[in-house]
Formats: sequence, C-alpha cells, structure tokens
Amino acid sequence: MEPGGKAFENSVLLTNIQRFSLHDGPGIRTTVFLKGCSLRCPWCSNPENLSGVPQAYTKDGLDGVYGEYMAQDALAEVCLRDKGFYGEKNGSWDIKNAGEISSLPGGVTFSGGECLLQMDRLVPVCETLHRNGVHIAAETCLFVQPSALGLAIKYIDFFYADVKILDETRCREEEKGDLKLYLSNLGMLLDSGRPVAIRIPVIGGYTDGAGDRRAARDLMEKYKRKILKIELVKGHNLGEEKYRSLGMPVPRYMDVDDRQMENYREELSGLHIPVEICRI
Ligand code: SF4
Repeated sequence: MEPGGKAFENSVLLTNIQRFSLHDGPGIRTTVFLKGCSLRCPWCSNPENLSGVPQAYTKDGLDGVYGEYMAQDALAEVCLRDKGFYGEKNGSWDIKNAGEISSLPGGVTFSGGECLLQMDRLVPVCETLHRNGVHIAAETCLFVQPSALGLAIKYIDFFYADVKILDETRCREEEKGDLKLYLSNLGMLLDSGRPVAIRIPVIGGYTDGAGDRRAARDLMEKYKRKILKIELVKGHNLGEEKYRSLGMPVPRYMDVDDRQMENYREELSGLHIPVEICRI
C-alpha cells in the first residue's frame, strides 16, 4: 500500500509484531514495533525504525523492505489472537500496588522507533483492545508533541519512559532532541497518575559519565514518588546487521561493564525506587 489516500489514513506503519514478549511490560505480551523516530541516538540498535517511511534493504544478497502499512483493524485482530495468553485484566488490576509486575496479566506493548508519533492512528486499535479487556503499554522516548502524549495518556495503561542525555546542548547535537520538550513531557506524564517505569540506557561515552548519572539521579529524585521502578539498560550492538543491510555506518561506543552498572544502581539506591539492571 502506498502512502496517501484513505487506506493509508486507516493504517499504522510498523516493522515487526513480536509475540510472547517477556520484557516489554507485565506478563506475556505482543510487542508492536512502530516505524519512525523523533530522535537519532548514536547508539540506536533499531536503525530500521528511524525513518518514518518504508525502506529498501539488502541482506545476504536478498532485497527486502523495512516497514509495512497495516490496517488498524487488522493490527487489532493480530494482537487479539494471543488474548488467551495475556490473562484477564479485571477491574482490580492495579500495577502500582501489585509488587512484581512480571507476574501480572499481559497484553499489548507499542514500541519502536517512537510509537507515539503514530498515536492518532493507534487510537482505534487501543479502543478495540480495551473493549476486549486487553492491557496496553507503550515504550516512549517522550520527544513528541504534547498533543500526542495527551492522547497516549488517555489510551495507554502503562508507560516505559526513557531518560537519556540530560544536557541541553548534547541532547540537541548528539540525539537531535529538544530537551525542554522532553522535560515538559516527562512532567506531564508523571503528573498524569499513569504508572510509569523509567528506562535509562547506560551507554559508554554518552550517558555513563559522572555528570550524566548525577543529572539522571536529580531528575529521579524530583519525581521519585511518581516512578514505579527504574531499569538501567546496558547497551548492545545487536543492530549491526540491520545497519549494514541499510548501507549505514555501524555505530561504535564504549562498553560499560557489570561493575559500572552495579555502581550506578547503588548511586540510585537512596531514592527508594526499585532499580533493575537489564539487557534488552
Ligand atoms: S529513541 Fe530509541 S529508536 Fe529512537 S533513535 Fe533513540 S534508541 Fe533509536
């Protein structure tokens, strides 16, 4: 399907639907990877999700395209196929008081890229999923228009929100982001009362310095009563093949070892927010 026209308006651009995910929110989930991102993080492991249009690639001598426009009702139908594995989201489902969230009923997670860039197109999908009692999560960098975030707060039950480079100049130059927009959106999301887990990618040379860690800690301190948990996420180079398939240079950054990750966790321990070290 080509961009433009009514069919395009009623569709979502995605690159993958991953069933039986265990690390994208409570329980067993279906994770939908939306194509298009507002940032250009130098360590990104999902280069196929950066551009907001389908992209030709070549891998192992075979040609393909990253990105497919899927009709909203078709996407909802695919997500509902695994409803039996999600478990029931009954009226008392309460993530804030549930303790370990992995033991809770699952659902659908929108990821990316930046999934909220297509939030208006996700609304009918969310309405269908909610009608069927399915829990919805989103993974977001929060570099989006406040109107998109407002819609997301209305329709998304649980958020993973990133904390990355917190220096205004470096955010602009290294990630191509507007830090003021991000900080405003983070406040809006946390003040909304929706449950939010913070994800901090710990990337050598970008987010692991003493100043980076201090800035992240200060931000978490400000909102500590509104944050469900913090995940420290170690960088990985799993996107190398995808960069090559797109003819893009493979990003390089310094490794952060387990000891440094543990030290970072200890630095955050005084906040009394649960902190996990993850590799995603
Ligand atoms: S926000 Fe995520 S998907 Fe977007 S560039 Fe950064 S790491 Fe990649």
